[in-house]
Amino acid sequence: MPLGPLPRGLLEDVARELQAVFGPTAALGQPQQRPVYAFNKDRDQYHSTAILRRLALSRGAGEPVPVVGLTDVDLFIPDMPFVFGEADRDAMSAVVSVARLQHGPDGRQVEPERLRRRAQVEAVHELGHLLGLSHCLDSRCAMYLSHKPSDSDRKGPGVCASCKGALGLA
Ligand SMILES: [Zn+2]
Ligand SMILES: [Zn+2]
Repeated sequence: MPLGPLPRGLLEDVARELQAVFGPTAALGQPQQRPVYAFNKDRDQYHSTAILRRLALSRGAGEPVPVVGLTDVDLFIPDMPFVFGEADRDAMSAVVSVARLQHGPDGRQVEPERLRRRAQVEAVHELGHLLGLSHCLDSRCAMYLSHKPSDSDRKGPGVCASCKGALGLA
């Protein structure tokens, strides 16, 4: 689900990757506004947990289909300087930010292809959490915890054999 303006092509590429890795159809959700309700003035960032709460509500009743929001705003949780994303398994909601993924170490915009791969691998990471996966020690697995954008470049595509096994995806 897009949370704010994002290229349609990027959203489709991310949805396609989620489907390729996990199986079931990944449908694009109704585009939403930027999550201004989660803005923290002191940090000039957006509180990702507030976004997860809102996503869980917007999903409505019925089947607990996992929702992954994609946004271009910079996310934080109180104890961390920033997060690339967050997942709440109980709420079956996750969010991923491209705010930091779109920059290289020199602060310049990365190539669209690199951004696409990073967004895909971090979306796989958060949906992996929703499906029950924990962090993985294999630095090439999408479930490895990225500390910086270049960590994401080493990951994927998809999850390692051990994580696949944990999901029953042999
Ligand atoms: Zn994680
Ligand atoms: Zn793994």
